[in-house]
Amino acid sequence: MPSPLHVLQADITTLKVDAIVNAANSSLLGGGGVDGAIHRAAGPELLQECRLLNGCKVGEAKLTKGYRLPAKFIIHTVGPVWHGGKRNEADLLASCYRNSLQIAASHGAHSIAFPCISTGVYGYPVELAAQIAVTTVNSTLPQLDSIREVIFCCFSASDFAVYQKLVDAAAE
Ligand code: ADP
Repeated sequence: MPSPLHVLQADITTLKVDAIVNAANSSLLGGGGVDGAIHRAAGPELLQECRLLNGCKVGEAKLTKGYRLPAKFIIHTVGPVWHGGKRNEADLLASCYRNSLQIAASHGAHSIAFPCISTGVYGYPVELAAQIAVTTVNSTLPQLDSIREVIFCCFSASDFAVYQKLVDAAAE
């Protein structure tokens, strides 16, 4: 069977998938980085829906429509801020991936794209974050029949290389 995991170097707002994941902050009211790009591309209706959600805790995920994006849904998850690794960052980051996949599956999504959650302003080291991303997706997917494609959408060439290596190794 072909692997459901794919790595792309792209702007996540351009992807034609059922759901894209947003690395949001806990207010869900927009921010910089990928969050800002998603709000700009989806349009102002996204912020209106986000205002009704009462924020989101670290490690949890909430779903909105995709509005002007090619993606049908946006799953907003809040990654942990990196404090050196002793404040439960790894478990919280794994929860982001698990909860995002579960909410996507509960809305019947077949394809989902993740950015490199927490590795921008939140400072999580990319290699460590990518390991958690790939391991958690691999261990969660067998419980979720509907999801057939998971894309790790990297913005930089160096992130792409890190993910590609891990996904190739996981497929062997
Ligand atoms: P966090 O606050 O969770 O660290 P950031 O948005 O600062 O979130 O960064 C998360 C990742 O998203 C980084 O790897 C950053 O390069 C990437 N990123 C920024 N803009 C986009 C985009 N348009 N598409 C995909 N990834 C993006």
